[in-house]
Amino acid sequence: RAKSLGRNTFEFFTPELNARAKASMLLEQGIRHGLDQQEFYLDYQPQFDISGQRVVGLEALLRWRRNHVAVQPDIFIPLMEQTGQINRVGEWVLETAVRQRRVWQQTGLLTDDCPVAVNLSPRQFTNAQLVPAIARILRENGLAPAMLELEVTEGILMENTSVHRKVLDQLHELGVRLSIDDFGTGYSSLAYLIDFDIDALKIDKSFIDHIDTSEKDVAITASIIQLAHNLRLKVVAEGVESQAQLDILRRLGCDYVQGYLCAKPMAPEAVAQRFAAPQKP
Ligand code: C2E
Ligand code: MG
Ligand code: MG
Ligand code: MG
Repeated sequence: RAKSLGRNTFEFFTPELNARAKASMLLEQGIRHGLDQQEFYLDYQPQFDISGQRVVGLEALLRWRRNHVAVQPDIFIPLMEQTGQINRVGEWVLETAVRQRRVWQQTGLLTDDCPVAVNLSPRQFTNAQLVPAIARILRENGLAPAMLELEVTEGILMENTSVHRKVLDQLHELGVRLSIDDFGTGYSSLAYLIDFDIDALKIDKSFIDHIDTSEKDVAITASIIQLAHNLRLKVVAEGVESQAQLDILRRLGCDYVQGYLCAKPMAPEAVAQRFAAPQKP
């Protein structure tokens, strides 16, 4: 232990770490610049019922194209979270996704029970502006609250401070939907599933990846689906890439799927193109 501590202390002064600190500083500046230059946009990934035919929702995913090169969300979102930039960006995401959902409603592209889902970072949650902003955005765009779904991670629900609880209560009162993202990767306590009014669990892709070869992953996924259904929650499987995975999920009684097999994240124009024909109920 002392040894590793010593090593870490030493590491603090290595050129490598210096370079890393500098890189993240440059990235932060890049984000600021990118926001001013409107380099950010949203793609939407459809979610399907288990037949793989009917769209049941669309997840808005933030994209950054910087000098024609795509920067991965897993790189820039944690940094936005650290710097607090996620608050400004997150409000823009909410505004843009809600407006887009309203457009799809007006053009009759999607049925009314098909919400747009927006990811929320922990830092947005403790921002006092969040609930008023969501209420305003829904009101100004004339969108029914049930057409907006918020995706939060287990961490947010586990915090369970009075602030978190109040925000969750207010969101529930507002009438937006709530789902738990990356389910299974966070905490082992499931108490929060009882405490909060949740609509859906999204089983993390890491459980789905090997579901066609690993009996253990089948067992875990089956248990999550059963748990969810016992609590009257819907289940979404994330990152479904093959027909074999879809077949197993159907056999396990999973409700919805999201993944490259059915559709990759795409621009709004591509959504309109793909689902132009009126969908059968
Ligand atoms: P997430 O919310 O769990 O989103 C699902 C991620 O899985 C997306 O990655 C999506 O492109 C990817 N994905 C979906 N289907 C498949 C598949 O079949 N195979 C593979 N390999 N990947 C698949 P993406 O867009 O890179 O986003 C990564 C994460 O960044 C998201 O994970 C979410 O946590 C975060 N994120 C994205 N947009 C936002 C945002 O607007 N706000 C916040 N706070 N976080 C965001
Ligand atoms: Mg998500
Ligand atoms: Mg996820
Ligand atoms: Mg994720």
